Amino acid sequence: MASRVVKGGHRLTEYLAASKAAEPLWGDVQKYVLDRAAGPSYRRKDVMHPSEMVKSDWCHLAAYHRLRLQVDAPGRGKTTFTRENIFQEGHQTHSKWQNWFFEMKRLAGDWYCNACDDEFWADETPEHCHLCLAPSTCLIYAEVALEAPALRIAGKADGYSPLDHALIEIKTLGLGSLRYERPEFLERYMVDTEEHGKLPDLTRLWRDFRRPLPTAVRQVQLYMYLARHFEDLDLDRCIFFYDFKPTQETKSFTVTYDESMSDPLIEAAAAIVDCLATDTPPHCNHNGRAGCVNCLEFQEPKKK
Ligand SMILES: [Zn+2]
Ligand SMILES: [Zn+2]
Repeated sequence: MASRVVKGGHRLTEYLAASKAAEPLWGDVQKYVLDRAAGPSYRRKDVMHPSEMVKSDWCHLAAYHRLRLQVDAPGRGKTTFTRENIFQEGHQTHSKWQNWFFEMKRLAGDWYCNACDDEFWADETPEHCHLCLAPSTCLIYAEVALEAPALRIAGKADGYSPLDHALIEIKTLGLGSLRYERPEFLERYMVDTEEHGKLPDLTRLWRDFRRPLPTAVRQVQLYMYLARHFEDLDLDRCIFFYDFKPTQETKSFTVTYDESMSDPLIEAAAAIVDCLATDTPPHCNHNGRAGCVNCLEFQEPKKK
């Protein structure tokens, strides 16, 4: 009987609901992960983050207010279990690649030592803690801090290989992350199937994936700018590794340093810092006096 056929999506929802009811641990872990995400943020509030600066809707006025008031970017706390799961999967993928580069002795950067609770920089994979001589098993790769205090910008690159004169950026590409970050790209690969309705053609999507996403390119250009001008690192490119979640295949791309891509962002940051020094709010770079969705949240209520 046709009316009794249960479609995939519906069945999945039912399955989740059932497992939630039947298995308290599943409900508990979801609550735990969401509570943890809503907890205190360790993200710095006294600097501008490259990941925010490269977004097309980055507002200079909102950035000014956020630095002045030392508050988080909006959207924190609004998360789902799946979103947190994607973030965590991304962290795990970082560790996997960093560990391989560590074993290959191709990784430079900051290292955190569990034994002495301190951090040190090493140009080569360290064999022991440079501060307390604890063995390398005590060390955790703390990535590559990139800071421009004068511009109030701070970020972190995933890795640095001096031998390759390159920063390293590790990305995961999956249906979940594409749905959040590039819905229009995913949409191009949706095909109608007779049995299951619209589904993404993963083979074609991965085959056509030939360059890093534009925001990722802008972000590493800014990282390279900071690395060269403020951290004195010798590099002229960034090597991307994209892990494709559905098949675990990997693609690597190289992005060559192009200073002109970061110039407008550096100028904007310098202008925002000047505005902070003189207590003069900059103009909204998206919508002038009227303001945009990002800076309007800081607007004081009009006096009657
Ligand atoms: Zn140590
Ligand atoms: Zn604005």
